Amino acid sequence: MQTFFFDLDNTLYPHSAGVTEALEEKMNAYVAQVTKLSIPDATQLRQGYYITYGTTLRGLQIHHRVDTEAYLKTVHDISIETLITPNIALCQTLQTWLGQSAVFTNSPREHAERVLSRLGFTGDALPIIDIRSIDFHPKPHLHAYQQALQVMNASANNAVLFEDSLANLETAKSMGMRTVFIQSPLAKITIPRYVDVVYTDIVAAITEQCS
Ligand SMILES: [Mg+2]
Repeated sequence: MQTFFFDLDNTLYPHSAGVTEALEEKMNAYVAQVTKLSIPDATQLRQGYYITYGTTLRGLQIHHRVDTEAYLKTVHDISIETLITPNIALCQTLQTWLGQSAVFTNSPREHAERVLSRLGFTGDALPIIDIRSIDFHPKPHLHAYQQALQVMNASANNAVLFEDSLANLETAKSMGMRTVFIQSPLAKITIPRYVDVVYTDIVAAITEQCS
């Protein structure tokens, strides 16, 4: 039996929702406050942390004294209900596969729960492997994937990752997972070899790739 891992942000809802921009604005302000840098300098530092460590938080944990829980609470205080629209087709399509699916995200559980609830999922329909579950060692680092597979009692060879981040798909492929790239419709890039299939629509991806 296959196990399906779904990234949350910009995978289960479109990048065009603007959640990333809202989160990044909060993160830039937080980094500026912690480092006493200007917003432009803090933004540059944060982008470097994201590229190097997988999340801004990991960079802050390594290089600064930061209250992890306060950070998570502050930066995720955004208007999910305004930005994301419910997606009943997604909920219905995933219904068949709920028993073998999980959300696998670098975000905290409470953000994932808000997003899933807004999309139309009820209660704890989907297990959530969040940033705390992976000990704050985010995707694309191997540890995150090992933890996720362990939580779902799955083997990489029978697992599929649906993701909008190429870096995160590269690690998945190196472990033997099948990789489904959920691409922003506006992005024009060369698709790397570690991507098995590409979709712009998550519902179409689930319909064709889950079996
Ligand atoms: Mg994502």
